[in-house]
Amino acid sequence: MPAEARARKSHPYRCPRCDAAFEVTYLDDRTGDRAHLPLASAEAACPACGHRRSVSLPAGAERTLEVERNEGLEADEGGGG
Ligand SMILES: [Zn+2]
Repeated sequence: MPAEARARKSHPYRCPRCDAAFEVTYLDDRTGDRAHLPLASAEAACPACGHRRSVSLPAGAERTLEVERNEGLEADEGGGG
């Protein structure tokens, strides 16, 4: 019985100001009728410099918004590609 249909979604972003990579995660609890809800916009602050940028996410999900520094993508050693 699917009592918990929530799923944590994550989207990678890059700060236009300091070029730090980070992920914006939120709980997508749109189920049933709520799945038709339009996207809303919220502000996510860069974990490195605090620069705010707008992100789109399901209405209501902004309450669960979290920003995580994506350290793995920062060390770009020029592997080509
Ligand atoms: Zn930044």
